Amino acid sequence: MRIGHSHSGPRHVAVIGAGIVGASIAWRIAMRGVRVTLIEKAEAGSGASSHSFAWINAGAKQPIAYHNLNRRSLDMWQRFAAALSDDGDSASIGLRWGGKVSWATEAADADRLVSQVRQLQSWGYPTRLVSAAELSELEPSLDVGAVAAAEYSENEGQIEPQLVVDACLRRLAEREAAVHSGTEVIGFELRGDGRVAAVETTGGDIECDAVVLAAGADTTTLAALAGVNVPQAKSPGIVIRTTPMPPLLPNVPVVYAPPLSDALQEIHMRQCADGRMMIGEGDQESLAEDDSQAHADDLLARACRYLPGLAGAEAIPVPVGWRPMPLDGYPALGFAEESPNLYIALTHSGVTLAPALSQLAAQEICDGIAADAMLRHYRPQRFAGMTAEQAASMKRPR
Ligand SMILES: Cc1cc2nc3c(=O)[nH]c(=O)nc-3n(C[C@H](O)[C@H](O)[C@H](O)COP(=O)(O)OP(=O)(O)OC[C@H]3O[C@@H](n4cnc5c(N)ncnc54)[C@H](O)[C@@H]3O)c2cc1C
Repeated sequence: MRIGHSHSGPRHVAVIGAGIVGASIAWRIAMRGVRVTLIEKAEAGSGASSHSFAWINAGAKQPIAYHNLNRRSLDMWQRFAAALSDDGDSASIGLRWGGKVSWATEAADADRLVSQVRQLQSWGYPTRLVSAAELSELEPSLDVGAVAAAEYSENEGQIEPQLVVDACLRRLAEREAAVHSGTEVIGFELRGDGRVAAVETTGGDIECDAVVLAAGADTTTLAALAGVNVPQAKSPGIVIRTTPMPPLLPNVPVVYAPPLSDALQEIHMRQCADGRMMIGEGDQESLAEDDSQAHADDLLARACRYLPGLAGAEAIPVPVGWRPMPLDGYPALGFAEESPNLYIALTHSGVTLAPALSQLAAQEICDGIAADAMLRHYRPQRFAGMTAEQAASMKRPR
């Protein structure tokens, strides 16, 4: 089915938002020889992408269709990173493999962990149960304490979103794409058929024949200006940093450690390419707004309990990051029926999903053929015409 354009393909695409999703799509489209203008209201990479824990995974994704989409993207990261890196060295954009470990100390949590592993194994995902001894052997720098059940997911990894965005901008410069930072999109000039004729910005109007709307948490407000309904859930998250430390997790980059008491959530940690540790609590959708120094100190103290090498680090609080979060938790990707040349690109887990979603989006936009076999569950149209109450009832149970 042809979508988006009446002609063979767009000549000029405006991309709104230079986070990891918008920058990746802009790069993929520019690679196709299409003129691209990337518009960013602040600094490239400064939105949710700069707050992200940036763990690449498919293990935490349900149901199987969404798991498979994440898995496809995870499997694409190595090539995606190599193509973006200056010298083909994917480590230069912070890509590091080695997997993720998690473990439980309480019987109920252990049962849950075991059944998750069994389900992922039935989907063919490379995760397995390990003993306490194996866990300590996998990452000797951890002090794991009592272990009721433990798991190792060997194909997961981490990336540095800012380095990815910077690399996309370098590739865009090579293609002579225009990048307007500090330029806010404030409206759309719409034709009678709902198509966008021009994007209105604080720096003037930009005429184009297709638009990608990848403005993260601001996507809902901007889409409404073109008559498109893409509701989101508010999803604040906190991941603190520490001062730079020598390598502390040499074997397994991503660690999920169990709660220290009933009143506390599990914590997750990883080390950035520049030596700073990132520490968050709960899962990848946990809501958190306490960006105080006291809370950062508390997270660091809890992480130290599991990673003694962190002693001596100082906690650096980070302001709340707002996850782009379609109301049902799944990506909203595709042309809007109300505005047929406006392509919505709104997603949680955009770090994991950037390689696959950018490829699919660029293909749909440039070739005009719907990739429905991959994306039919994730079309923005599922929200069209919904009342707020109906949309709220779609909200994924947490
Ligand atoms: C705390 C936290 C932890 C996370 N952990 C993970 C994880 O471990 N793994 C994972 O895969 N994902 C994770 N995510 C999710 C992931 O970070 C996001 O899905 C991803 O960064 C979204 O990228 P984006 O480009 O869509 O949005 P953003 O990075 O928010 O980029 C959108 C850009 O649009 C710009 N913009 C907005 N409005 C306008 C306008 N009017 N005009 C011009 N520009 C505009 C913004 O300034 C921003 O730069 C996490 C997110 C958070 C907040």
